Amino acid sequence: MSKPSAALRTLKAVFGYEQFRGQQQAIIDCLLAGQDALVLMPTGGGKSLCYQLPALLRDGLAVVVSPLIALMADQIAALDELGVSAVALNSTQSAEQQREIAKRLREGTIKLLYLAPERLVQPRMLSFLQSLEIALIAIDEAHCVSQWGHDFRPEYLQLGPLAQYFKHVPRIALTATADKRTREEIATRLQLNNPQRFVASFDRPNIFYRIVPKTKSAQQLLDFLKGRKGEAGIVYCLSRKKVENTAEMLVKAGYPALPYHAGLESDVRAANQRRFLAEDGLIMVATIAFGMGIDKPNVRFVAHLDLPKSLEAYYQETGRAGRDGLPADAWMAYGLSDVIFLKERLQQSEGSEAHKRLEQHKLNAMLGLCEMVGCRRQALLAYFDEQLAKPCGHCDNCLEPPQTFDATEAARQALSAVYRSGSRYGANHLIEVLRGSRSEKVKNAGHDKLSVFGIGKALSDEQWRSLFRQLVVKGLVDIDDSGYGGLRLTEDCRPLLRGEVSLALRRENADKKRHTDSRHH
Ligand code: ADP
Ligand code: ZN
Repeated sequence: MSKPSAALRTLKAVFGYEQFRGQQQAIIDCLLAGQDALVLMPTGGGKSLCYQLPALLRDGLAVVVSPLIALMADQIAALDELGVSAVALNSTQSAEQQREIAKRLREGTIKLLYLAPERLVQPRMLSFLQSLEIALIAIDEAHCVSQWGHDFRPEYLQLGPLAQYFKHVPRIALTATADKRTREEIATRLQLNNPQRFVASFDRPNIFYRIVPKTKSAQQLLDFLKGRKGEAGIVYCLSRKKVENTAEMLVKAGYPALPYHAGLESDVRAANQRRFLAEDGLIMVATIAFGMGIDKPNVRFVAHLDLPKSLEAYYQETGRAGRDGLPADAWMAYGLSDVIFLKERLQQSEGSEAHKRLEQHKLNAMLGLCEMVGCRRQALLAYFDEQLAKPCGHCDNCLEPPQTFDATEAARQALSAVYRSGSRYGANHLIEVLRGSRSEKVKNAGHDKLSVFGIGKALSDEQWRSLFRQLVVKGLVDIDDSGYGGLRLTEDCRPLLRGEVSLALRRENADKKRHTDSRHH
């Protein structure tokens, strides 16, 4: 046997691990050789080690750029446990504390320095660091440099010139979210010098994906949880109110559940988070405020009671399940009302029209994953520019391939109902009209007199709802900006109306039990 490398010895002696994971060794070798690196690795893949370990093996100080103070604090605490000296400089520290840290940096007793980007690029900080020996520069969450991404941070754009300030210092950019375009944007904007690219697979083979249309979401969640007593999990909801109601509902049903959202007092939030991490078998019901930097290996399921706003978000959130590599479930119930809610929120948000269009596009891609017929994992990975050769055999669509049906006629009926009622009613109203319901609302609008009234009795409510969702996904109708979910026709529906194309859609079988999971097959 050959002598273990210095890197491997340090891995065992300092970090206590037996072997490198994935491409860690190659990435570390790249930095040790003084070259730049661009690392794409899913959350939980072990990115931090890629710069922490070379920081110990190269002379001088490693500078780590990170966007969140909380993330820095977690890492520093973990390094502290291992006996590695690491510090952060940030605005919450007193002048006295900062002077003390500067002194220790000058003495060379610190191995890693964590900084927010805006802090690093301050002229005083730059000249201070230039007076020290720098081992490497790591730029974490590097996708923040992309103007098209959801986490864009203008300060990241100022990190490019580091290439000139620290000419012979290797730089490593790391991210867990980047399609091909963002990847190249990172390399360019950060002015990486002919970086070696390390792209890990984003596949999480131990996660079973299941997505179901929302009917009665509380009951659906309880069905999903059957047989899962004692397992730790996260339930995501879009609104604070729903978080609280759901947590309460679960507690009543005998599941230990805690709420987490930005509206709670910060000490309550912190306490709930601590309990979730420390205790076994708790369910955290949360808005997306929960999760950044959560590293709990044995989360057995992530359930979404509402649709995330993009596939990036879905991937990140479901990715918190099964970090230990054991079987885990990603389950979601979604409906058109989620899309309306998210769209409304998007309309009200600040941001340019171009940005809103992009976000709308991402939302449609998310909805597309829900309504698709083929393998979910293939589609999810394809979105991140990764090809999976075969259907995975480990998602709902692979196990129970959904039937399709010729929906051409029904779709034309639906489009016609949209048009004849004035292009401003939501799916529920249109379904009443199509199925011939003489509700007050329908009568008041005079819609019982329309030629489309009652022509769609052949399909159930649920089938119509599914059809309207799929029309939205396919871009044949879109949701107007009223906030009430009014539907209107798009240009793209013309070929269908003219009978030039036909349409096959997913058949929703509402009666089918859809709460089984990976372990029940
Ligand atoms: P990321 O930053 O990619 O989300 P982390 O760096 O936080 O991931 O690592 C995720 C988990 O994997 C951490 O608990 C870390 O200690 C662990 N880990 C990293 N490298 C190894 C390894 N070579 N062997 C075992 N565990 C590892
Ligand atoms: Zn599959």
